[in-house]
Amino acid sequence: MMNLTKEYIEDFLDEFMLIEYKGRDHIIARAHFRETFNELIPKFFERKEEVLQTNVTELINENNLKNIVIIGAGYGGLTAALRLERLLKKHSFFKVHLIDKNPFHTIKTQLHEAAVRKTEVSIPLYKILKNRNIQFQLGEVENIDVENKTVQINDKLLPFLFLIIAIGSKVNYYNIPGMAEHSFALQSLHDADKIYEHISNVCATSASEKDESIRKNNLRFVIGGGGLSGVEFAGELADHTSKCVANFNIANNDVEIILIEAAKRLVPFMEESFSSRIEKKLIEKGIKVLTDLKIEQRTDDEIFLSNNSVIKSKNLIWTGGIRISDLIKRGGLKTSTVGRLIVDEYLQSESNKHIYAIGDSANAINPVTRKPVPAAAQFALQQGRLAAENIYAEIFGRVKKKYYPKVLGEVVSLGKHLAIGWLALPFLKKITFVGFLGRLLKTAIREKHIFLLRKESRNWITY
Ligand SMILES: Cc1cc2nc3c(=O)[nH]c(=O)nc-3n(C[C@H](O)[C@H](O)[C@H](O)COP(=O)(O)OP(=O)(O)OC[C@H]3O[C@@H](n4cnc5c(N)ncnc54)[C@H](O)[C@@H]3O)c2cc1C
Repeated sequence: MMNLTKEYIEDFLDEFMLIEYKGRDHIIARAHFRETFNELIPKFFERKEEVLQTNVTELINENNLKNIVIIGAGYGGLTAALRLERLLKKHSFFKVHLIDKNPFHTIKTQLHEAAVRKTEVSIPLYKILKNRNIQFQLGEVENIDVENKTVQINDKLLPFLFLIIAIGSKVNYYNIPGMAEHSFALQSLHDADKIYEHISNVCATSASEKDESIRKNNLRFVIGGGGLSGVEFAGELADHTSKCVANFNIANNDVEIILIEAAKRLVPFMEESFSSRIEKKLIEKGIKVLTDLKIEQRTDDEIFLSNNSVIKSKNLIWTGGIRISDLIKRGGLKTSTVGRLIVDEYLQSESNKHIYAIGDSANAINPVTRKPVPAAAQFALQQGRLAAENIYAEIFGRVKKKYYPKVLGEVVSLGKHLAIGWLALPFLKKITFVGFLGRLLKTAIREKHIFLLRKESRNWITY
């Protein structure tokens, strides 16, 4: 008869997380990880339901006033968890809990590459959290009870002393009729895999299509939204279509890529000179760029535009906007129009000072421009570190630091070998990168993220 102690449950969960990771081919296994987990746990419970229920509730509820809970193991949340663990190393009284619906950290800034080339863009969390005093919980937070200071996960309540909300963003369809039903999003690894499968399938099946107009319609790819992710995806796809042409014996002019942006120029948050350079490079790659045009309706195979024209295509990738999950609003917290938590200069919720928000889910204000900081990985990382330090300061009665975003640069990749961007230099100077040098810089930025994760976690991390 096994002894169902707290240690036993912890070992079981540890072992479950340590399923051997064998690279990208195990993607389906990973996509179903959570479902499997949810399926297995009740079965396990059935055997010793009462004992286990008591133990798990005890495990989750014990020391409730010592928990610092972080929702989301993306750029911001993971950074905050690792920094807090380091700061609280000598204070084992406090427990850092990190929750994510996936057992891996996604390098979201490279998702367009995964969608087109199936590159590896995820790192198993167990590799990052190994030997760290961070309690990882796999599951989706369904509710935040601000008054009772608990979060609800997998039908259990986890109490917190401090909470950091780092849940990133979701796709925003802006209620465009048919858009949610008939387009592909690019916000998660799961989305990238769906796009990859679809493109491969379209290329393969179009090769045997004899009717030219059907073949051309099949091979027309439309990207809705010319912001960072839309532009990066378009550039990557243009490189890939040559592979599609070569591998499946499709004529070069059968493939068409159209990028549609509602604003007057691409990547509107960047300086105008960058927008025009990006547009020029995309046109050189054979992409049709349409600006100042809105998608008004989408059906299964047609896209209706604001100038009354219609594009026939079954392949629409929607990168036109982001919004935040309703989770924050449902908790009764004050949010902006897109659902970001309104935070003060210390990244604390204005109405509930024990709740912080970072990254895409925070409406952090740049004190110089008085505008909200854009959704970008570099800001999520900076905010993750600051939130951890401010919680530490609050616990030990030290002075908290105000948030001041540092813009280190902006780099936009336009395919496998090309990128455009700039990097900040001392004395407010900038250095501009175009072409292959830019691409090297983009790779260096990704490697820096992995390097910092290694440094913070003191673990050797690989994809
Ligand atoms: C295609 C693409 C390209 C991009 N390129 C760039 C770029 O070049 N440079 C740049 O700076 N930015 C880029 N971005 C934006 C950047 O990726 C985001 O700003 C950044 O990921 C935000 O970090 P975050 O920590 O707020 O959230 P994320 O990194 O999105 O992490 C959120 C985490 O929360 C988890 N989660 C969400 N809800 C729940 C829940 N209810 N319960 C449990 N877990 C939950 C998710 O699983 C996820 O792991 C790009 C984005 C995309 C989609």
